[in-house]
Amino acid sequence: NPFRLFEVDLTDGRWFLMSEQILPSGEMLIQAKEITKQKVLEHQLCSKVESLSELALTDELTKVANRRCFVDSVEAELARCQRTEQPAALLLLDLDFFKSVNDTYGHQAGDEVLKAAANRIKALREYDIFGRIGGEEFAVFLSETDQSTALHVAERVRVILADYPIKAGMAELCVTTSIGIALTQGESNFEELYLQADSALYMAKRNGRNRAELFALLTEE
Ligand code: GH3
Ligand code: MG
Ligand code: MG
Repeated sequence: NPFRLFEVDLTDGRWFLMSEQILPSGEMLIQAKEITKQKVLEHQLCSKVESLSELALTDELTKVANRRCFVDSVEAELARCQRTEQPAALLLLDLDFFKSVNDTYGHQAGDEVLKAAANRIKALREYDIFGRIGGEEFAVFLSETDQSTALHVAERVRVILADYPIKAGMAELCVTTSIGIALTQGESNFEELYLQADSALYMAKRNGRNRAELFALLTEE
C-alpha cells in the first residue's frame, strides 16, 4: 500500500519526520516524529564542512587563494598550457620594506595594507590565478602569456600599488612591490618556475625594489 516519508519544518523552527500510509480500508495513517535535534546537528555539520573547505582554499585575511590552492590551480593550468603548447608566466611579488609598515603603523595597519593590495591586484586581472603565498608575498600565474605580455602585466601590478597610496586607519601609505618573473620553456614544472621567479625577485630587490625582473634575461646576460 502507498507509503510516503517526508520532513516538514514548522514556522516555529521545529522539524518533523512524517510518514503517510494509505491503509487497505482506504483510511490514511499519518505519524509524526519530532527530529528538530537531529536537523540542528545536521545543519551545524554542513556549515562546518563548508567553512572547513573554504579555509583549506582561501587565505583568511585577504580572502584570495592561499598557497596550497594557488599551487594546485597553477599545476593544473601549467599542464594544460603544455598540452596546448602555450607559453605561461609566473609572477612572484614581495612587498617592499613591509616590516617597516608594521613597525611604524602597527600590525593592524599592515593587515589593512595586505588586504587592499590583494584586492587591487585581483581586480586588475580577474582571469588569472592569483594567491597569497606567504606573509607579504603574492603570486600571479598568467596562462597563454608571452614575455612581452608578462612584462606588461608586471608593470601594471607595480604601478597600481606604487602610484596610489593605501588608506589604513588614519594613514595613507605608499607601498611598493618587487616582482620576479619566470616564463615557461617547454617542460617547465612548477618548482622550477617558482625557483626562477624567486631568483628574479631577489634581483629586483637587489636592484632597488619597486621593479620587476625577468629570469630569462638574467641567464642570457
Ligand atoms: P623587503 O623589501 O626586503 O621584502 O623587506 P621586508 O621588510 O618586506 O621583508 P621581511 O621579510 O623582513 O619582512 C616581511 C614582514 O612582513 C615581516 C612580517 O612582520 C610581515 N608580515 C608577514 N605576514 C604578515 C601579516 O599577515 N600581517 C602583517 N601585518 N604583517 C605581516
Ligand atoms: Mg618577504
Ligand atoms: Mg618584503
